[in-house]
Parts: sequence; C-alpha cells; structure tokens
Amino acid sequence: MVAPLVGILALQGGVLEHAAHLRALGTEVREVRTPAGLDGLDALVLPGGESTTMTLGIAREGLEEPLRAFAASGRPVMATCAGLILLDRAHLDVLPIDCERNAFGRQIRSFEGDVDVAGIDGPPHRGVFIRAPKVVAHDDDVEVLATVEDAVVGVRRGTVEGYAFHPELTDDGRLHAAFVAQLRD
Ligand code: GLN
Repeated sequence: MVAPLVGILALQGGVLEHAAHLRALGTEVREVRTPAGLDGLDALVLPGGESTTMTLGIAREGLEEPLRAFAASGRPVMATCAGLILLDRAHLDVLPIDCERNAFGRQIRSFEGDVDVAGIDGPPHRGVFIRAPKVVAHDDDVEVLATVEDAVVGVRRGTVEGYAFHPELTDDGRLHAAFVAQLRD
C-alpha cells in the first residue's frame, strides 16, 4: 500500500514536531509553502506558531483560497494552536468559530494540564498550552472535543479538527494516530 502523503503548512511555526509524529505513523510528509504544494496531498496540518506571521505568509503566497478549497474537499485537516486561529471566521473562515488569542492570561501564558479529548481512548491527553487561544463562539454544527475549565480547546466539524494545545510537543501520538487513521478507512 502506498503511504498517505500529509502536508504541513511550513510558512512559520512548529513544523518538525508534527512531521516526526506523522512519519512515526508511516505517512510521507511534505512541507507546504505554495498553492502547488497542496497538490496530491491526502491530508494537511496547520501547525502552531504565530498566527499574524502565518496570515501574512498565506496572503503573500496566495494560499487563502487554496487552503479553503482543500478543507472543503473533505481531506482531513488538523490544526494546532495558531493553526486553530487560522481556521476561525476572522481568518480563513474554514470553521464557523471565533477564537480569542492568548486567551489564558498573563500569569498562565503557558501551562500543561490533563485534557480529555472526545474519541481518544485511554487516559487524558497531557495538553501543552503555549500562549494558547480558546474558542469563544461556535455554530451548532461544530463538535466540541475538549474543554479546560469551561474553555473550549478542541473542535471538529467533519474532517477538520483543531486544538488550542500542542499534541505534537508530547510523546502521546494518539491524536495524530486518529487523524491518520481517517486516511486508511
Ligand atoms: N499566541 C499565538 C498566536 O496568537 C499562538 C501560540 C501558539 O501557536 N503556540 O498566534
């Protein structure tokens, strides 16, 4: 069987950690910097980093419409942290959600905490939050996958999923495994 090909938006941010998880699961990985880079991908990751910088890069490379079209095509998309912000109504408008950036305040800009993620069996995921956003509003067709202290930190609609935390910075591969499993169904 040919290994699935997963792209990672690589304009800025935490690309290598996602790549390591994806490769460990037997996928091929391609760093995506241009619209042509999306051709032939089976799935796409929007990594964490800095959403303003990424937004500028997306505009510069003409990636807005291609990224929207990719998500609309039904191929799986996983977004983490700044990637989640990119999905919201104020950015790519891939999901009907609103994110608040740096939503956990100055004192706890970065923290780790146990997060139960819907659909992931076993113990809670160790959520790594780094100047993390939260989802402050969403339409009814958006499924909430995870919350911390009433804040929504994981969402899914169809094949598009987003997390405010960084599963790629842990050695817990369950979220990536579930993401990749969609490609083998
Ligand atoms: N605070 C960043 C932003 O607003 C996101 C942080 C992250 O991706 N770790 O873009």
